Formats: sequence, structure tokens, C-alpha cells
Amino acid sequence: MINTSSFCEAKKKIAVLGSTGSIGQQALDVIRAFPTRFQVISLAGGRNLELLERQIREFQPKMLYSSIKPNFTYKGKFLSLEEIANHPRVDLVIIATSGKAGLSPTLAALKAGKIVALANKEVLAMAGEIVTREASLHQAQILPIDSEHSAVWQCLLGEGSKPRRLFLTASGGPFYNYPQSQLSQVTVEQALHHPTWKMGRKVTVDSATLMNKGLEVIEAHWLFTIPFENIEILVHPQSIVHSIVEFIDGLAKSVLSFPDMKLPIQYALSYPERLPNPELPRLRVEQIQSLSFEPVDYGKFPCLKLALDAGKQGGTYPTVLCAADEVAVELFLNHSISFTDIPRIVQKTLEHHKNIAQPSLEEILASDAWARKYAERVSLVSYEVYPKRSSFCHCEERKRRSNLRVIR
Ligand code: MG
Repeated sequence: MINTSSFCEAKKKIAVLGSTGSIGQQALDVIRAFPTRFQVISLAGGRNLELLERQIREFQPKMLYSSIKPNFTYKGKFLSLEEIANHPRVDLVIIATSGKAGLSPTLAALKAGKIVALANKEVLAMAGEIVTREASLHQAQILPIDSEHSAVWQCLLGEGSKPRRLFLTASGGPFYNYPQSQLSQVTVEQALHHPTWKMGRKVTVDSATLMNKGLEVIEAHWLFTIPFENIEILVHPQSIVHSIVEFIDGLAKSVLSFPDMKLPIQYALSYPERLPNPELPRLRVEQIQSLSFEPVDYGKFPCLKLALDAGKQGGTYPTVLCAADEVAVELFLNHSISFTDIPRIVQKTLEHHKNIAQPSLEEILASDAWARKYAERVSLVSYEVYPKRSSFCHCEERKRRSNLRVIR
């Protein structure tokens, strides 16, 4: 999928979609460090207008998308996400949005032959076949920003043979050694406290349920054209080894670095060059005392198995998985359901879905819409079945949910 031939740009014009999110802000940190190499030509931000205004003042983008009406003056052009993604002046599009929002602009960018630096893992998870087909058709490049996929990509550079196996490493998240019996009691604050990585709220909760790792396996399957059977997961709490690639002759390659998302972001922007950045924390290889790896516990974190099964079955199952997870994580973040309700809602939604093999984009979007509605209803049923959980509900959320019709 990834073309490893070199290219060179004097000053790369970059569109940052999701600029006010965690990855978007870290991408701007990288761009800020290289003013002669990179130029922000477009920004697209979410609900944090104050931050978006500050970013506009600093980077002076020519084009802007804001998901809500801005309360500040902007003299450039307002465009849709898709118009920004395929604009002739854009060289590289960073997709740092969350959930389903990244799919349509990614497709627009690929159809225009752009370089897409992809951080939003749902894009490939929910529509991998269509996205990779569009990239091939239009000779567009997808460069991964996720640390594991960036590592696999870098291990494969210059290799003429397909790898035998991929090992994606996982920190295990904040609850890996937590007693299983207490997982239903964990709080939002605990789930958002990731031991090694600084990421957005959705992906941090996905890391705690290990859904994130399942989505990464699906993403790796599409990105590197590797069968699911040849992708394994290793728990590596230090988050220093960012995946291992094993080749047919028995050699294994890995990429080591300090766990900081700015490093894979910078490599995607500067590829095929490497740039010196004093702002980035450096790994002191000589000070590493131990690196540990262990097999993952599938039983404790059901989201992982749900994701792998959905990925292997294909069709619209991965779309439904992503949509139900997005709904469930949002409800958990709003204190409306417990941590262990997340996999239950995702599982119920998958069980009631009628899969469509080799779906069109319209069928994917329809399955996404169905799954969102269904997951909402499942969560409401769980609230009625387990009234004790009312203590988790905020009053407003409870009122809103009580207006929903229960479908069993
Ligand atoms: Mg990752």
C-alpha cells in the first residue's frame, strides 16, 4: 500500500484536519519546529474555538473548516473538510479527526492523489477495502501516524519480500493488571490516565478496553496487506518497542523510540528524510534496563476479541464495531454507563447486525447509522435492567435517554 520511492518538496503545504485534538496539536508542534520545511495551509477544528482562533493567528491558514460557527473574524476561505482535503494547493493531509469523521475527507484526499498522513484508525477499520482501493487507483499514499504502524512501515522500507508475521505491541493500558472483578467500577478519570501515551479521550478509553489494539490489527491488515492470522499482539508495558516484523528467513526487525506521538507524526511529514528536532525526547538506549513482552489476555478485555472477529468476518461488521464503540465510549465519558458496559453494547450491536459482504460506501454509511441507533437503544435497555447504574447518569443525560423508545 505504501510506496517507498522517495520524493522531495521544498516547503510542504499541509492541511491539518482535527487541529484542536491531541494529535492535531502535536502535529502543529512538529510543524512549528520546521518553519522552512512545512507550511500550514488549512486547519479544521472541532468545538474548541478558543484554541482554533489561537492556531489561526499563529499559522495564518488560507482555508478553514470549523464544525461550529466561529465567534471570531477569519479573512480566509471557509471550506468543507472534503474541499480542504482535495484542494489543489494542499500537498499532504493530516487526518487527525476521531471516529467516523475522517472517512469522507480521507477518500476525497486519496481521489485527488494526495499524501494522507493517517492518525484516525476508524478510517481503515470501517472501510479498509474501499480506502485502499482508492489509494491504489489514484496512486495516492497513506502514511501511518499511529506508532505501531509507523514502526511496521519503517521496518518494511527497502524490503523486497512480504513479512511472515507482524507483532503489534500494546502497553496494556491503565487496567492491564487491575482485578477483573473491579473493572465495572473504574472511573472515567482512571480510564483517561494512560500510563505511557498522551492521546485524545476516545482513543485513550479505547486503549483501556484494548479496542484500540483490535482496531490497529484491522488497520495493519489493510495497510500492509497481511492476513489476520499473521498479526499477533504482544503486551509490552514500557512502550519502547513499537512493533516487530518477522521475515521468512527468521530475521526480526523492530523500531525503538521514546513513547511520544510527535516522532511518528514528524516522520510522516518529513518522509523520506529524517529531521533533527531538539524538542523531541530522546530514547537513552544505554539506560534501558529491561524490555518485557507477554501474550495478551483476551478473556479480560472482550473488546479486543470483538474487534478481531469483526475484522476477520469483514463486510460491514468492522463498521458496526466502530460505530457501536464510538457510541458506547461517549456514553462512558458522559458517566452514563460503566466501563464494562462498553464491550456489552458493542457485542449486542454486532449480534443484531445483518452483515453485508464487500459493501459499497453507501452500505457502509447506512450500517454506521443503523449501529449508532441500535447501540443507543441497547444502552438504554441496560440502564433499565441494571437500575443501580442510575448513579452513573448525569441528570440531563438521564432525562434525554428517558425520552428514547426502548426496543428489545
Ligand atoms: Mg497505537
